[in-house]
Amino acid sequence: MTYDKLFADALKPLHDEQRYRVFIEIERIAGRCPLATWQSPTGPRTVVLWCSNDYLGMSRHSDVIRAMTETAARTGIGAGGTRNIAGTNSPLVTLERELADLHGKASALVFTSGYVSNQTGISTIARLIPDCLILSDELNHNSMIEGVRQSGVEKKVWRHNDTAALERLLAAEPCRPKLILFESLYSMDGDVAPINRICDLAGRYGAMTYCDEVHAVGMYGARGAGVAARDGAMHRIDVIEGTLAKAFGCLGGYITGSRNLIDAVRSHAAGFIFTTALPPPLCAAATAAIRHLKTSDEERRLQQRHAARLKQVLVAAGLPILPTSTHIVPLMVGDPRLCKQASDLLLSDYGIYIQPINYPTVAKGTERLRITPTPYHDDALIGQLRDALVDVWQRLRLPLANSLVAAE
Ligand code: PLP
Repeated sequence: MTYDKLFADALKPLHDEQRYRVFIEIERIAGRCPLATWQSPTGPRTVVLWCSNDYLGMSRHSDVIRAMTETAARTGIGAGGTRNIAGTNSPLVTLERELADLHGKASALVFTSGYVSNQTGISTIARLIPDCLILSDELNHNSMIEGVRQSGVEKKVWRHNDTAALERLLAAEPCRPKLILFESLYSMDGDVAPINRICDLAGRYGAMTYCDEVHAVGMYGARGAGVAARDGAMHRIDVIEGTLAKAFGCLGGYITGSRNLIDAVRSHAAGFIFTTALPPPLCAAATAAIRHLKTSDEERRLQQRHAARLKQVLVAAGLPILPTSTHIVPLMVGDPRLCKQASDLLLSDYGIYIQPINYPTVAKGTERLRITPTPYHDDALIGQLRDALVDVWQRLRLPLANSLVAAE
């Protein structure tokens, strides 16, 4: 038996379907955001990064770097164990207090990533509710789907953001405990959930709500608590889950909720109990980022301005962007091979890095370039991007927005 051949065979369909993932090696330049050094085949080259989820550039904010380095010098790097075995460090306790305050909840629990917080959070919460029925939005992130699967609990999937579909499922099980899972902001299409309507239905049919705010924390609301806060619905949601790795520029994930719920997850979740705690310097850095964004609106304001400007400029150039009301700008290609080619050309010929988004991250036929402007993508960079995209669209004979509309 040649085991290695099995692995080679597993890669073949990915190549055949043009969705084999190629990682580009880059190193971001902290003092020159959004520039990065790309290890190109001919040597290091400076490129403009247009696809980072460090949405506000907080990973290189001076307060955040200072908090991290000062804490590292004081405590060392690693946490030294699971939360139970010496891992409950003061910076982690402070971070959890900060997060509970951010979301107006009694308690918060930090995990090693947003992925783990969903996977282990959802599976634990669902298992602790006898006869629980999970109602899950069809576009929920893989980490939520894995949480559902791991719970072993019955689930029903409702059509994306369709509250009438959700209500039919709720009404069909009036007496059963139900857990509604959704995201506040869907990161591939950049659309937003009808949070208040979902909460209305949860109240009417006696369901619990669990909302993933991973792409919204730091970005929306007066203190950066997310879309639910902006929409005045934060207090209506039972569990808010978020990440420290995107707008907060660090690493780690969390859930916030009532004291009993968080205590129960803390006490039962294998993905929390049996893994080393987040390093204290990282906790201090995340706390600094959260604290900064609680009081500073400047990063959000600039980011929103640049996102609006970028959309305006790309629409005027006839490029087929998906209309969104959020900071995410999806530029549709609709073919995996062309999407990869467009991304490769942008990098090699224009020094612009936007990775292709292909299946299974998005549905086949909806392949795209996902553009995420930061506060540092000014008008000059936006103009440069527009010109490069127009060239690439012509070179690859990709359809413009008006020809797509005309063909419908
Ligand atoms: N939830 C959503 C909606 C995501 O898009 C992601 C990752 O990108 C996660 C959770 C996982 O978060 P993290 O990157 O912190 O593991």
